[in-house]
This record gives sequence, C-alpha cells and structure tokens, in this order.
Amino acid sequence: MSQDALRQEMVMHGKSLFERGYTAGGSGNISVKTADGGMLMTPTNSCLGRLEPEAITRLDGKGNHLAGGKPSKESVLHRAVYQARPETGAVVHLHSPHAVAVSCLKGLDPANVLPPITPYFVMRIGHLALAPYFPPGDEAMAQAVGELACDYHAVLLAHHGVVVAGKDLTNAVYAAEELEETARLFLLLEGRDYKTLSPEQVQELKNRFGD
Ligand code: ZN
Repeated sequence: MSQDALRQEMVMHGKSLFERGYTAGGSGNISVKTADGGMLMTPTNSCLGRLEPEAITRLDGKGNHLAGGKPSKESVLHRAVYQARPETGAVVHLHSPHAVAVSCLKGLDPANVLPPITPYFVMRIGHLALAPYFPPGDEAMAQAVGELACDYHAVLLAHHGVVVAGKDLTNAVYAAEELEETARLFLLLEGRDYKTLSPEQVQELKNRFGD
C-alpha cells in the first residue's frame, strides 16, 4: 500500500474511533509501518477525529523525524512494539474508557487481565497483559511494553489505556475495538455470578481459527 493510501486509512480509522468515543480530546495515537522500515504516526497533540494526511508524522526506522508534524512522545511506545513483534504492521494506542476503568481495578492478573467471555475476544485478543503505571512520557513505559509485546499483541497500561498491535491497521483497530467492548462487558458482569468459556471451548476456537 502506498504512503498516501496509508495516510488516508489512518485518517478514516482515526475519525471513526474518535466519533464513537474510543478516545477523547488529543489522546490516543495510531501508527503504521512503512515499506522502508520506518513508520507513519499521528503527530503530538493531534485529535484522532480531525487528522490531516499531510500533517501525519513520518519517522525512519531509528525514530528520526523525516516529515510532517512533531512526533508524539508516545512514538517510543509504538517503536517498542514494532521491535518486539517484527510481523506487526500497525499499532493502535487508545485511552478507551472501559479498558482504562478495568486497568484501575485491584486484584487483576497481570498475565491475563480479562477472562474469555466471548469467542470474539478469544479470537481477536486471546490474552491481555497488564503493564504497571508510569507517568506520561516515561521512557520506562516503552521498555515495559516492549518486553510484554514479545508475548502479547495487546497490553493494558494501568491508569492509562491500551496498546494493540495488528498485521495491518484494520486488524489492529478491530482488535482494539474488541478489547474495549470486552472491557465494557466485563464491567457489566462484575459482581454477578457469570460463566466464562470453558478451557475446551477456548481450545476449540484456537484449533478452528488459529492462536
Ligand atoms: Zn496515552
């Protein structure tokens, strides 16, 4: 896909995510890997609902700024995921409210935050990791996410948001949406006596649709 087409895709998905409340104000950012090993990413302080294709930041494979708006301080988060998962073509980071609410709960399992309550969560996310809290822009956050991204394509940042990797932008967006919907269902079910899918049902999904 050409860089122009990638930029148009970022604008379209950003607007759609913003308008449906998946991230607010100037929060959240999305990136796609380019054929030269660099990436295109939404610039600092941009609103996902009003992206301009020519203002999208272009970085080379080492993170140097080549063109477009000033890079977001969260670009290091995205780079950490691409380095940990070479098959990744796009990364979506959102301050999606139900996922953030879950990230503030006590007693979460950091290796498996959300239970398998729907097949769609199992197929799109599988297992969700929890990274501890870091202040915005803290370099240690990128390091922590990079380490978790070796084993997980979706990471929940405590008191902050989600980082989701996909083979392309559409897949990363679908997974981020499924994660937010599952967090919402999890909060609806909290305190109720509910069932999850059984280990056998989860295994059957993995057999049918891949891990
Ligand atoms: Zn953020």
